[in-house]
Amino acid sequence: ATPTALLVGTGRGASLGILIRGPQALETSRGIDTVVLDKTGTLTTGEMSVVDVHGGRAVLRAAAAVEAGSQHPIAQAIVRAQEPPMPEVDDFETVDGFGVRGTVRGVPVVVGQEKLLTDSGMPLSDELVAEVDRARDGGGTVVVVGWEGAARGFVKVADQPKETAAQAVSAFKALELRPVLLTGDHESVAQSVAAELGIDEVIAQVTPADKAEQIRHLQEQGRKVAMVGDGVNDAAALAQADLGIAMGTGTDAAMQAADITIMSGDPRKVATAVELSRSTLRTIY
Ligand code: ADP
Ligand code: MG
Repeated sequence: ATPTALLVGTGRGASLGILIRGPQALETSRGIDTVVLDKTGTLTTGEMSVVDVHGGRAVLRAAAAVEAGSQHPIAQAIVRAQEPPMPEVDDFETVDGFGVRGTVRGVPVVVGQEKLLTDSGMPLSDELVAEVDRARDGGGTVVVVGWEGAARGFVKVADQPKETAAQAVSAFKALELRPVLLTGDHESVAQSVAAELGIDEVIAQVTPADKAEQIRHLQEQGRKVAMVGDGVNDAAALAQADLGIAMGTGTDAAMQAADITIMSGDPRKVATAVELSRSTLRTIY
């Protein structure tokens, strides 16, 4: 039988906008010592906008045409920055965690990380690499655009940390939970967000498939891990974690994989959930 206190705790969570899937999740929260946090949409707003374009209007136009097929926050920012009408795209394809490809007016176009461009036979010139590095300094995600055998330029998009993100990190530390930033984004972008929020441990440039593997790696070191995420890309990691926590502002896939959903998407509520579980269990044991 489930102790009444656990049901009471679950009910209190609900009134705080913290949806707890069954009393078991409260029990699990007890031993957590590490909180792994996805960046985009979890610690940052995920509401991106274009802040820089390099290589002329054709770069933005081609990028927007292809990104029209993607739901990623990066894609939405690029599409918003371009006036319609947009040319139609054939053979649209998403390469998870790397970018998108599609054919615009008969010309194959690639939009995404440098590696995707290089792998697609559209290498960056040394000059462009230097420009990309410069643009990436101080945060913001740089998306490279290429066609006909070469990278042609880039679009830089950026969002902001959520207003409460730094407070959330302080709250984790006060509860002796070690915060870790886990992201598919570039190392320098991850480091700048982590520094701004007070997070010391960063795992960057992780492909969606490797996010769960990184959680397992922490578990093998004896850590009890809560994972907080919002994206389709986070679902496997949420399932792998000892405790999966989804942002209610994110995707259904993340919520389905999670033990707890934070309705408002406020990362401080992750700390509230752990406190709730600790206080609930103190009344039982
Ligand atoms: P995060 O872990 O921060 O939520 P993702 O795993 O979704 O990020 O994406 C990792 C990286 O892959 C992005 O920073 C970007 O460089 C690239 N990327 C992903 N989707 C797209 C897209 N639709 N267009 C361009 N680049 C993309
Ligand atoms: Mg995300």
